Amino acid sequence: MPDTIAFSGSPLDRAAVLRRDGGWLERQLADPAARFLPLWNLDALVKLGNPRSLAWARLSLFEDVDFSPDPILLGLDGEVAHFAVDVSPLEDPLVALGLEGAAKFEELRSIGNELPREEIAVVAHARSLTNWHQRHRHCAVCGETTISVMGGVQRRCADCGAEHFPRTDPVAIAAIVRGDRCLLGRGPGWPDTMYSALAGFVEPGETIEEAVRREVWEESGVVVGNVRYVQSQPWPFPSSLMIGCIGEALTEELTIDRAELLDARWFTRDEIRAALDGAPGPLVVPPPFAIAHHLMRAWVEAQDG
Ligand SMILES: [Zn+2]
Repeated sequence: MPDTIAFSGSPLDRAAVLRRDGGWLERQLADPAARFLPLWNLDALVKLGNPRSLAWARLSLFEDVDFSPDPILLGLDGEVAHFAVDVSPLEDPLVALGLEGAAKFEELRSIGNELPREEIAVVAHARSLTNWHQRHRHCAVCGETTISVMGGVQRRCADCGAEHFPRTDPVAIAAIVRGDRCLLGRGPGWPDTMYSALAGFVEPGETIEEAVRREVWEESGVVVGNVRYVQSQPWPFPSSLMIGCIGEALTEELTIDRAELLDARWFTRDEIRAALDGAPGPLVVPPPFAIAHHLMRAWVEAQDG
C-alpha cells in the first residue's frame, strides 16, 4: 500500500494552536506574503499552461468584489499562511477577478491526474471545508446565524453560543475475499464492465467491522467473518473518510439488492490482477487514485507472495 494515497499528504501545517489567537490570525490575513486559493462552486483556481498548478492569489485580488470573503486558514507552509476563499457569490469570477486567460476554475476529479500530489491534497482539504461552511450558516440548535471562528475549523452560533465542527463521514469499503476469488459490485450509472469494492456509510452505534458485514450482507447476501483494516483515504466529495478493509467471506451465494447494486460477482485473482494492470478485458477496476484499487492490489500481491 502506498504511504500517501490521493487527496492525502498536504504539506501544510494546520496550526491548531496558533489559530486560537485572534490577533495572530489578523496578522496572517494582513501579511503581504499570505496566499489565497479561490474556490468557485467548490472548483479550485488552476493556472493555464503546462505543467498545471494551483493559482494562489494575494488578498488584494478580492478588494473589488461585492461580497465579504471569509477566508479559511488551511495552514502554514513555513511561516506563510495559506487560505481558501469561497468566491461562489460571484456570477462570473474570472471576469470579476480579472483572471481571464491566466487561470481557470477546475473540478477536482478532472485535475486529479494533472496537479502534483501535494496540491491535490490541499484542494481536497479546501473543498471539504468550504462545502461545510456553505452548508452550516445556521445553527442546528436554534436556527440563528453562525460565524466562522479559529480560521474556519469551527463555526459558533452568534445567538446561543453552540459550537459546530466540520463533518467527516466515515465510509467502510472492503474487498471481500474467499480463497482465490474476490467479490466486487457495480453501482448505478457505472460503465458496463466497471466493478469495485463494496462500500457504505458507517451508521451510529457500529464498528467499522460491523459496518462492513452489514453492508456486504445487505447488498450481496454474502456473510462476512473476519474483517481487517488496511488503509484509509479522505474522499472530498464532499467530506467522506474511506476506511479500507479486506473481509473474509463465509458464504458465496449472491442475493443482490438491485436498489444499491446493478450487479455483483466473484472475480478470480488473475482477472483482478489483469484489470489492475490495465489489460483490456471483461473487467475494469477503479484507477489508482481510488482506495478500492489499492485494496484489490494488496489482496492480489499478498496471494502472490
Ligand atoms: Zn444557536
